[in-house]
Amino acid sequence: MPQLYAVIGNPVEHSKSPLIHAAFARETCQDIVYERLLAPLDGFAETVNAFRRSGGAGANVTVPFKEQAFALADEISERARLAGAVNTLKFTDARIEGDNTDGAGLVTDITRNLGFNIARKRILIIGAGGAARGIALPLLAESPALLVFANRNLNKAQILQHQFSPYGVVETCDFAALPGRQFDLVINATSASLSGEQVPLPADLYALDSLAYDIMYGIGETPFLAHARSHGAGQYSDGLGMLVEQAAEAFYVWRKVRPTTAPVIAMLRQHS
Ligand code: NDP
Repeated sequence: MPQLYAVIGNPVEHSKSPLIHAAFARETCQDIVYERLLAPLDGFAETVNAFRRSGGAGANVTVPFKEQAFALADEISERARLAGAVNTLKFTDARIEGDNTDGAGLVTDITRNLGFNIARKRILIIGAGGAARGIALPLLAESPALLVFANRNLNKAQILQHQFSPYGVVETCDFAALPGRQFDLVINATSASLSGEQVPLPADLYALDSLAYDIMYGIGETPFLAHARSHGAGQYSDGLGMLVEQAAEAFYVWRKVRPTTAPVIAMLRQHS
């Protein structure tokens, strides 16, 4: 009997997760079925519980339910606790385990797929929402020289600085104070690209051999990446690799098998 998994969100029809997990299952010979589940905005817990009752073994959680998944889980991993959000649920007989694989997915994409070494580098994270919070700890675990949060609402960045300072050198910076500062790794973790908006970034932001990374994917070149390309970033990438790598990490949480991700990233690039 195949084991049952799903991605739960609202909206969810755009999700590439079923395609990704089907490819992982084929490659690793795992007998699973993975579907999309649209949860009503006020019915996340009911959707999860009904899925469990119907034999669900685990689920990915996407917008806008990651915080609700955090509240629903009986057990929370350390990385999910610091992210304040859960994107992976694993159901055991009596309990719901919550994990967050987004940050690990980003770091794997940056270090392994893009070949960028984070150690001793200066990182700028633009944004201070759920995604920024979710990626901070795995980035700090790579021992960068410095991690700076810049956000429109500086107060939100300062809260993250306070939270993550025990794990490394963490600062905040106003957009207006960015000119004159250089970074080796600049990550756009805002949702600005969704609306085609440009975050106000200075022309001299990128150090030699720097990497610009937009965690957004599937919408072509974002204003952030266009700015990076024309202002001296050595390398730039969208977040498609992060999407596939966070899925691979979730697959590992459920199945204890690591799928090969490169062919899946290539397949999605071909279809986008
Ligand atoms: P949140 O709503 O929690 O946070 C949004 C952030 O974007 C805030 O910091 C907000 O600033 C900032 N922002 C929005 N518009 C602008 C703008 N015009 N100029 C400057 N800053 C802006 O969203 P999330 O953190 O959950 O998600 C962010 C993005 O990450 C989403 O687009 C999501 O799709 C993507 N993502 C990608 C993943 C992947 O696998 N590749 C995984 C997870 C998320 P302020 O606080 O000042 O309002």
